[in-house]
Amino acid sequence: MPELPEVQALAERLNAQLASARLVRTEPLAFSALKTVLPSPEALMGKRLDEVGRRGKFLVFSLEDLRLLIHLSQGGRIDLVPSSRTTRPRGAVLRLRFDRDPAIFVKEFGTERKAGWWVLDAADPGPLAKLGPDPFSKEFADLLRSGADNGRIHAMLRDQRQVAGIGRGYSDDILHRAMLSPYRSLASLDPGERERLLEAVRDVLTEALVVERRRTGGLPPKLGDHFTVHARYGTPCPRCGEDLRRVSYQSHEVTYCPRCQTGGKILADRRLSRLLK
Ligand SMILES: [Zn+2]
Repeated sequence: MPELPEVQALAERLNAQLASARLVRTEPLAFSALKTVLPSPEALMGKRLDEVGRRGKFLVFSLEDLRLLIHLSQGGRIDLVPSSRTTRPRGAVLRLRFDRDPAIFVKEFGTERKAGWWVLDAADPGPLAKLGPDPFSKEFADLLRSGADNGRIHAMLRDQRQVAGIGRGYSDDILHRAMLSPYRSLASLDPGERERLLEAVRDVLTEALVVERRRTGGLPPKLGDHFTVHARYGTPCPRCGEDLRRVSYQSHEVTYCPRCQTGGKILADRRLSRLLK
């Protein structure tokens, strides 16, 4: 899934190419992807695109007195295409045409959670109202320094109400960087571990953003080739050489290094132990 670095760099690219352009056509191409009824998508026509920004994993298009949000979710991606193109390939979600190229084409692949979009009055936060602070904010630093969350840190980092923009991929890399077990809770961390976690969050996201800013165009299906440990189960830990392990869940898996993160302990893989019974 595109997370903060991918969406931030994408927003910057879209802004550089399309800020000040006028939206001439909004084409909804998938029935259930539009999450709002009013204002209607037609209300966006003729509006000037003031800015493309990001909040959490949402792309935020500011269009005068209206806002358009896009959430790519698991399988949503973006192509930048010539405005003249009118084809409607499989997985098409939305096409936005401006008074200059490129047009923005939102598509999705796979059957996992779907991409969605919202048309809102500029003053209406819509789904952004539920988001927690940005990972680079003071509010988030305060949360990590004094929070007493008892859940697993891995789940906390992915919870968009606690901190907005981190998902499965970067939470693996962040905990590996911080040398903390994904099963630890924030409440159990001492002050030194909390600082290490905060630094890891910011360093991992900042480094990924540097890489993402080298990308051109939209956002292709294959992402995340620059993860350190995420999805690299079975390969050697880049820090200590030990084989990376994983814990599998129905919808995702958590990758970690036993030597660097859990004091050598192998975390119980519930799905695997069930199969072995
Ligand atoms: Zn290691």
